[in-house]
Amino acid sequence: MSPGPADQVNAKELSARAAVLERRLELAQLDRVREAGGLPGTRVDAQLRFGLFEGRTTVDVAVTGVATLVCQRCLQTCDSEVDESAQLIVVRDEDEEVPGGFEPFVGTPEQLSLSALIEEQVLLALPLVPMHEPGTPGCLPTGAETVPLVPKSASTHAARATDVEKQTPFANLRELLGKQDEH
Ligand SMILES: [Zn+2]
Repeated sequence: MSPGPADQVNAKELSARAAVLERRLELAQLDRVREAGGLPGTRVDAQLRFGLFEGRTTVDVAVTGVATLVCQRCLQTCDSEVDESAQLIVVRDEDEEVPGGFEPFVGTPEQLSLSALIEEQVLLALPLVPMHEPGTPGCLPTGAETVPLVPKSASTHAARATDVEKQTPFANLRELLGKQDEH
């Protein structure tokens, strides 16, 4: 694999010439999305327009793509659309005053991590409770009563459950998995 384009950029320099950059990120580059339950298949395209507002670095960011998550009803993977955009102004610390119409992004303008900036937008786009659309075939609650007890698949099921648990911080999912394990 060839190394991707640089993640750390000098946003000050890019702003001075109103540069537009595009990036495609996958799960491997999105640690915090993975920690929030993102699974392989997650992929986003981002467009970043650099600008200046009263001498300060701004970034118009638009992120589209797909976040693959665990459906909280059937515990299968489900794809959630990501479509998020924001007008950011780069601040060095959170207390810095932000002009109206802008949202702050804490970072160093001369050394800005594009993946961190894009990732923040992806995190904002994630649903609180990921779930398939109502009526999706096969999306049924995995309550204790409806789970068929098939001994043969028990080991693979357990393996998958562990895998899911490692990657998802959802407390209610843990609860569901715990209930299954009692059987
Ligand atoms: Zn589902």
